[in-house]
Amino acid sequence: MTTTSTLWGGDSGRQVTCIACGETLDREDAREYDKHGDRWDREGKRFEYLCKSCHRECCQQSRDGLEEMLVAADAGRTDRGTFLRRFCESTTDNESLD
Ligand SMILES: [Zn+2]
Repeated sequence: MTTTSTLWGGDSGRQVTCIACGETLDREDAREYDKHGDRWDREGKRFEYLCKSCHRECCQQSRDGLEEMLVAADAGRTDRGTFLRRFCESTTDNESLD
């Protein structure tokens, strides 16, 4: 019986950080977020991760603007602290528009 974790090369037990709230969680509990959208091209790619609650929020709200927001925040091209700060600032800006 092959399990999912062996299939993906022993990723189980690894910890990842949610890009939205910065929470550390088990890789198995995280939801992959691929900002490029082509999740089948895994070669040399670094996935972003969302925890369940942030993933749910992202799915409930329109994804319009989320891609731009991630790109604007330099997702994957800046250090995580800077990215998270920019991402949070973008989120806060959006909320203040209501
Ligand atoms: Zn989160």
